[in-house]
Amino acid sequence: MKKIAVLGSTGSIGTQTLEVVRENGDIEVLAMAAGSNIKLLEAQIREFCPKLAAVWTEEKAQELRMRIRDLDVRVVSGMEGLLEAAAMPGTEILVTAIVGMIGIRPTIEAIKAGKDIALANKETLVTAGHIIMPLAEEYGVSILPVDSEHSAIFQSLQGGQRKALHKILLTASGGPFRGKSRAELEDIQVEDALKHPNWEMGQKITIDSSTMVNKGLEVIEAKWLFGVNVEQVEVVVQPQSIIHSMVEYEDGAIIAELGTPDMKLPIQYALYYPERRYLPGERLDFSKLSQITFEKPDMETFYGLKLAFEAGRMGGTLPTVFNAANEKAVAMFLDRKLRYLQIPELIQCCMERHHNIADPTVGQILETEQETYEYILGRWC
Ligand code: NAD
Ligand code: MG
Repeated sequence: MKKIAVLGSTGSIGTQTLEVVRENGDIEVLAMAAGSNIKLLEAQIREFCPKLAAVWTEEKAQELRMRIRDLDVRVVSGMEGLLEAAAMPGTEILVTAIVGMIGIRPTIEAIKAGKDIALANKETLVTAGHIIMPLAEEYGVSILPVDSEHSAIFQSLQGGQRKALHKILLTASGGPFRGKSRAELEDIQVEDALKHPNWEMGQKITIDSSTMVNKGLEVIEAKWLFGVNVEQVEVVVQPQSIIHSMVEYEDGAIIAELGTPDMKLPIQYALYYPERRYLPGERLDFSKLSQITFEKPDMETFYGLKLAFEAGRMGGTLPTVFNAANEKAVAMFLDRKLRYLQIPELIQCCMERHHNIADPTVGQILETEQETYEYILGRWC
């Protein structure tokens, strides 16, 4: 039995990870962590029988302890709890499916404890890739991408020579507002931005997909995962989300991974790598597929993507500012305290005033995150 821990078990990636576990029947979940959905977490604990459960607030942890007092499961809370779940003795893989930079410290803790990382939590690599990737190498652990595009790139690189990799072609659906002008985006409401054409995902990443900030985060994520410059990453809009990404080799050959959009494929591939297993679900039927189309991304309207390229090129603490400003902006937009077009505006404003720190420590990254939040609270709220 393979043994794993899942951070963010009640979210979109977390629940699909547990579906993969359920369908395969040969993985044991030893630890789970979640934010606030205690009812679902209780149901998951009763089904998957972990030894440890971590909940963010102590109040919610108390509530969970009461609900599962008939079970022999230890319930912990706070960052200490997350760290304990991440480094749970006996596990081989940590699935990082929480949202945001809160994932940095647990990921580091797990690597130091010798766990492979099935990484969905892209914000960790975006802000601390220069720490995570060398650390993984030092401890001899693998960072296995769960993000569908990065899994596609990883799959396309199997059997190829890494040194012959010329370019990454990162595909994007373009989100629900593809083709719209800035003027047409003036009055976008939360409900409009939460409708993704092809993927069912958590709220934050769905908004990020609509602004193309998600693609920007993925450009920086690709830089760290595959050891390329951001200039080697080209974003290709492919609205049907059938090509999940491609790589181009030095000789001009392009290898792609295609399929129906289903996050369970990259999740299962990361959990069993290098083994491929049967995965139930719809298959691509080329006789029914009428077309696959391509466009260039509109980086003027969706300039969050342009800002991401700049942050990725500069490195240091600038990607942290990009990410933290976006996290805050999206939270404010979801609370209806910020207009849609103010999301990239706020990111740009925070990036412009920032004094970049090269090669930052985790402490400096977390301080930069705080400073960015404080600046936004003082000036924009
Ligand atoms: P989500 O909002 O659906 O789920 C987030 C999970 O994290 C929930 O279980 C929540 O309870 C938990 N969580 C939040 N704060 C926590 C805290 N302080 N302590 C413990 N748990 C906490 O998000 P998601 O869509 O599943 O995305 C998770 C990550 O995966 C993100 O980094 C996202 O960018 C990435 N990702 C998601 C998808 C997708 O299809 N959903 C695809 C690619 C990458
Ligand atoms: Mg993705």
